[in-house]
Amino acid sequence: MEPVTVAVHAGREDLAALGAHVPPVDQSSTYPLPSVELGGDAYERMATGGRPLKDDSLVYQRLWNPNVDRFELALAQLEGAPAGVAFASGMAAITACLLATAAAGRPHVVAVRPLYGGTDHLLATGLLGTRVTWARAEEVDAAIRPDTGLVIVETPANPSLDLVDIADVVARAGAVPVLVDNTFATPVLQQPLAHGAALSVHSATKFIGGHGDLLGGVVATDEEWAVRLRRVRALTGGLLSAQSAYLLHRGLQTLPVRVLAQQENATVVAQWLQGRPEVERVLHPSLPQCDPAGLVGRQMSGPGSVLSFALRGGYAAAAAVADTCRLVTHAVSLGGVDTLIQHPAALTHRPVAPEARPDSGLLRLSVGLESPQDVIADLARALAVVHEHIPVVERELSLAT
Ligand SMILES: *Cc1c(COP(=O)(O)O)cnc(C)c1O
Repeated sequence: MEPVTVAVHAGREDLAALGAHVPPVDQSSTYPLPSVELGGDAYERMATGGRPLKDDSLVYQRLWNPNVDRFELALAQLEGAPAGVAFASGMAAITACLLATAAAGRPHVVAVRPLYGGTDHLLATGLLGTRVTWARAEEVDAAIRPDTGLVIVETPANPSLDLVDIADVVARAGAVPVLVDNTFATPVLQQPLAHGAALSVHSATKFIGGHGDLLGGVVATDEEWAVRLRRVRALTGGLLSAQSAYLLHRGLQTLPVRVLAQQENATVVAQWLQGRPEVERVLHPSLPQCDPAGLVGRQMSGPGSVLSFALRGGYAAAAAVADTCRLVTHAVSLGGVDTLIQHPAALTHRPVAPEARPDSGLLRLSVGLESPQDVIADLARALAVVHEHIPVVERELSLAT
């Protein structure tokens, strides 16, 4: 079946037999146990990362939740992956991948910058017992050591929209598994496992939820990794809530139409920004200079709907634009139905080391489902303030780590 059909129906195959049209939300924190022995057997299966058998008690919500299971099955189908494992947030999903890596006795991680600020921060602090080597995509092979357990890339990357050739990184990584943060592309535009990645990770908070009303994360992978990740999840407690799983499963139904419509709007806005004198450069994979290797159309079926643009007036101009937008909300996060703008160096990427931090004149825009002409009118009004006298002031942007 076509992906649009899968998006609408996946994880719902049993509903008609239940006499239901939408999945019931199972809020149970605990479940009746048929006997000490059978309850104990079920507990052991799930606590070690396995799936429950058909008649098992689900024992306790941290081990298993039916709405989470439905969402995982549906997401995995869209990603072309054998399994999905969902978490309470994108960072909980990335944490589980790093903990599973460290637990396997290979705690060294090779990471390609730029990454989402939180991921960069988590790797840089070594909080989870991993040790990072930063490498450019072409240097991944040289950075691999005997204790390397994971290679991490993000494509398109946050906030530069840099594209990384997944198959090339996979070849350079050799036997080391490659994790791709697929948040910006979504499974609608890119399926990293088809290019050899072992793990495709999403902040489901963004496009998959799509409405700015929940936090979630998910990993699409093979069954062997899924067992390891479910084990970490059961031990550390980063399970997605039943209500959020219900909403994410619902969000998948409209994901293809939202992603394609938002991408069209973003391409219009990117073109318009390119022609503005206040704007030094625009970063969006639809622009040829942002895709020198021709990955759009080959690795990724379209450019997506997140873009960044740098103001000639630096920090002061960027801050003035973000502060002046009205229809466009000044807020972090992305991928929702409404357009958001934010200043990466001051906010999402503040914890990143100065040499890797985004330019302080850069703004990131996540284009929503509004008419692009209305978004453009709001941006035009905001850019007009840059013409008023704004002194060029730079500010020290750092975060104690
Ligand atoms: C937001 C984001 C994350 C973190 O996800 P949360 O759901 O906020 O924990 C990770 N990667 C990317 C690319 C993101 O945009």
